[in-house]
Amino acid sequence: WALQYYWYDERGKKVKCTAPQYVDFVMSSVQKLVTDEDVFPTKYGREFPSSFEALVKKICKYLFHVLAHIYWSHFKETLALELHGHLNTLYAHFILFAREFNLLDPKETAVMDDLTEVLCSPTPRNVGASGDWEGPGCGFSPRASRESRSCQQSDFSPVRPSPWPPELKRTICVLRRLR
Ligand SMILES: [Zn+2]
Repeated sequence: WALQYYWYDERGKKVKCTAPQYVDFVMSSVQKLVTDEDVFPTKYGREFPSSFEALVKKICKYLFHVLAHIYWSHFKETLALELHGHLNTLYAHFILFAREFNLLDPKETAVMDDLTEVLCSPTPRNVGASGDWEGPGCGFSPRASRESRSCQQSDFSPVRPSPWPPELKRTICVLRRLR
């Protein structure tokens, strides 16, 4: 099982890279785009480019990859730092925004559907639910069971099946119970 991250260099050549490099490429490229006056004009009377929508979709796709990578490879650390609430809120806002303006291809995001369903479903929360983390009746089933991943040896492909980290699986079960 060997998935690989790829980036396209300035000449459009496809190059292999590690997950940290990929995240760095994404952040640099998004930063460059959102501060580009030709793409996001801030002066009165300036036109948005005809490629605006395509560029925004591209930005969303890259940012989704980064979020998915954090969930897949670093959720344990996120929990240890007690940042998972912030991560989940960020993810939910991002997905709902993208959904509202049709900025993400459902095929690209399908791999995260289990999480999206529990975080973005409009069902009201049942506050009285118990906090049991791994009881029976949780419908969650990982798509595959494989060893854990690390940045260096793994990679990200949004269309390939992958296991959830156990900590994330438990969180999804809890969120399901709270609904
Ligand atoms: Zn990483």
